Amino acid sequence: MSAVVLFSGGQDSTTCLAWAQARWSNVQCVAIDYGQRHIIELDCARKVATAAGVNLAIVPCDSLRALGGSSLTGTLTVPSGVPAAGIIPNTFVPGRNLMFLTIAAAFAFQRGITELVTGVCQTDFSGYPDCRADTMTALQAALRAGMDSPFTIHTPLMFLTKAQSVLLMRELGRLDLLALTHTCYNGKIPPCGICPACLLRAKGFAEAGLADPLIAASLGPAEPPAAPSR
Ligand code: ZN
Repeated sequence: MSAVVLFSGGQDSTTCLAWAQARWSNVQCVAIDYGQRHIIELDCARKVATAAGVNLAIVPCDSLRALGGSSLTGTLTVPSGVPAAGIIPNTFVPGRNLMFLTIAAAFAFQRGITELVTGVCQTDFSGYPDCRADTMTALQAALRAGMDSPFTIHTPLMFLTKAQSVLLMRELGRLDLLALTHTCYNGKIPPCGICPACLLRAKGFAEAGLADPLIAASLGPAEPPAAPSR
């Protein structure tokens, strides 16, 4: 059995990749080069895919950048702190998940694959309407009808908190992969620590009671332990 993971090199899609590898023998990743402000995302996607031993296809799709209006595709300032409830922040890229899942479905269709996996999550979501379960249900119906193929969109993180997502990765035994991921909206490694994405990630690890392997990896190797005294 095969599956296609919509992949970004971030924490959530990397967790989805590990989840998919525990279920299907042939897992392939699709990442989209959409003119994202931080090309570091695609570098991380390549590193994670290599470490996980999966094929990664990077598909160009630059129309979202041309449309503008989002701080993740243009020069708008990324807001600091957690966004207020009910307000869609300027990090929202309208249509992104709809387009990307359609591209992933087309990629899967060409290879006879029907299982699609995405890391959307409405529990901790930043006010993004395209991360909600009802959007995914509607999109799955549209993809099935539009390509006449029995697609299933799997959303293993949909109702998990970030802490539960971290614990899921530990259960899957692949926390190591998270050292290679990228989350920061400001494109920083080590993470900036003040953007909404960094805050959410840090909160998840803190609540899970685990250290973020990305922090340790990005700060360089730790001092070797002192030789035991006799
Ligand atoms: Zn950040």
